[in-house]
Amino acid sequence: MEFGFSEEDDAFRAEVRTWLSGHADVPGDRRTWERTLGAAGWIGLGWGEAGYGNRTVSLPQQVVWAEEYARSGLPARSGHIGENLLAPTLLAHGDDVQKRRFLPPVAAGEELWCQGYSEPGAGSDLAGVRTAAVREGPYYRITGQKIWTSLAHEADWCFVLARTDPDARRHHGLSFLLVPMDQPGRIEVRPIRQLTGTSDFNEVFFDGARARVEHVVGGEGQGWRVAMSLLGFERGVSTLAQQIGFAREFAEVVRAAEETGAVHDPVLRARLVGQWAELRVMRWNALRTLGHATGPAVPGAPSVAKLLWANWHQRLGELAVEVRGATATAGPADWSPASPYPLDAAQHLFLFSRADTVYGGSDQIQRTIIAERVLGLPGEPKGAV
Ligand SMILES: Cc1cc2nc3c(=O)[nH]c(=O)nc-3n(C[C@H](O)[C@H](O)[C@H](O)COP(=O)(O)OP(=O)(O)OC[C@H]3O[C@@H](n4cnc5c(N)ncnc54)[C@H](O)[C@@H]3O)c2cc1C
Repeated sequence: MEFGFSEEDDAFRAEVRTWLSGHADVPGDRRTWERTLGAAGWIGLGWGEAGYGNRTVSLPQQVVWAEEYARSGLPARSGHIGENLLAPTLLAHGDDVQKRRFLPPVAAGEELWCQGYSEPGAGSDLAGVRTAAVREGPYYRITGQKIWTSLAHEADWCFVLARTDPDARRHHGLSFLLVPMDQPGRIEVRPIRQLTGTSDFNEVFFDGARARVEHVVGGEGQGWRVAMSLLGFERGVSTLAQQIGFAREFAEVVRAAEETGAVHDPVLRARLVGQWAELRVMRWNALRTLGHATGPAVPGAPSVAKLLWANWHQRLGELAVEVRGATATAGPADWSPASPYPLDAAQHLFLFSRADTVYGGSDQIQRTIIAERVLGLPGEPKGAV
């Protein structure tokens, strides 16, 4: 399939642009902004199934929406996890009652979600999850700890990967539970302070928290299958939009380099050109991947894409501060280590992009996937790390 935009898509783009520019000053807090988007029908465009308060549009139009949103510079979406991770998972594995209960509030921007996978002893090795869920009448009683849980401090619900069969090992005996954050059982959310001074993610402690039995997705013991399928939704249409965001950041770095004169430094200049060329290649690659979206999956493609963008973005962060020279390291005069410090965009980009090669599957894990599943190299010894 050739991927391209038709006249209808161009008309849709004009509609999106008009709406977004009309709301450039409206956002307010992030929760209100989600409701505004939901009320205007912009959430759930890519669900493929309508009838849950969402409308569906073609693949090119999903790309248009995502691109225009990224171009607008409007705030990052706090509804992303519900819309792009939970919803496709429910559509694939949920029963009708679950879909009818959980999808409409996501489409309306009313309920926000977080992802409870990682634990202190289970990140790359997710099958090591130890959080336990024990059946008690109509509920599961959950005890354990999650970590790095993005947006847990804002979320209404969390999807939790937990062990429902204590005797089963590794990826057997896990279940995918939908857990309300506000409930009689104890759930404590402790923010983790990051290099950037902000706290976008948290530790989450479950101490007798409850999930209803009918809120297990895909059936008890099927959690690994459901959890892995969700990770497959972490990519796709959003890749092109992400590159629009990257292009904006790149333009900003070039502008700074012009301002400081760094464009005349032959080494920095060559690196800027290299970054630009790689960004073009990533865009063509993403368009090609979308062209194959309805065909068989290309082995290793998601891992290759993740490796490329994460490393590209991290190098852009380094360039963003290097083109500014020593001034890039200066903080405001009134900064005190006790208070969150304001960072400018380049400093934030440099610091936050350190995480790019970790979340969503680290570089090392992507290389292992490519080694084993694409190149057919021998598997790494179990328990080697
Ligand atoms: C910004 C950010 C947001 C996140 N949000 C969420 C979230 O919302 N929900 C959630 O559940 N998790 C979230 N995470 C967690 C993320 O999924 C994990 O950090 C990631 O899976 C890596 O796990 P880990 O941190 O335990 O590191 P580890 O798995 O302990 O890895 C440490 C290092 O060892 C390397 N390593 C590990 N195993 C191997 C191996 N077999 N071979 C070679 N090298 C290996 C890794 O590559 C890494 O460099 C987030 C992380 C970040 C940085």
